[in-house]
Amino acid sequence: MKEGKVICPYCGTGCQVTLHVENNVVRAATGVEDNPVNQGNLCLKGFYGWDYVASPDRLTKPLIRKKNGVFSKDGEFEEASWDEALDLVVEKMKEAKEKYGPDSLAGNFSARCTLEDNYVAQKLMRAVIGTNNVDHCARI
Ligand code: SF4
Repeated sequence: MKEGKVICPYCGTGCQVTLHVENNVVRAATGVEDNPVNQGNLCLKGFYGWDYVASPDRLTKPLIRKKNGVFSKDGEFEEASWDEALDLVVEKMKEAKEKYGPDSLAGNFSARCTLEDNYVAQKLMRAVIGTNNVDHCARI
């Protein structure tokens, strides 16, 4: 069994967790005692919420809904390359910004990001999209 310390990715409290890993599967999680934020404690998410890491249901490639080979909200999911998926995201974000304004793209970031991911995401929203309406569950 290997052990490694991580910061819990679920919210912005910043609890430190020791992950107990066997064969690349997280078998248990315990709070780090000498961390001033959580002092060894974890909430239910930090304690139990690690099954997704090794889940066979976890997406490993982008999926795009397509009908007759092109994007359609009514289509079926098809595997796509990262370039195709990201090009589609850029195209749809530009369309929304032009049609509804930058604030239409404001939203809540995913919780399962690193602090660095969130920093880059808020920079994208502020500097590229042009909205300051940025939110994240780290506000608790
Ligand atoms: S989700 Fe729970 S364990 Fe994780 S950082 Fe937030 S309070 Fe701590």
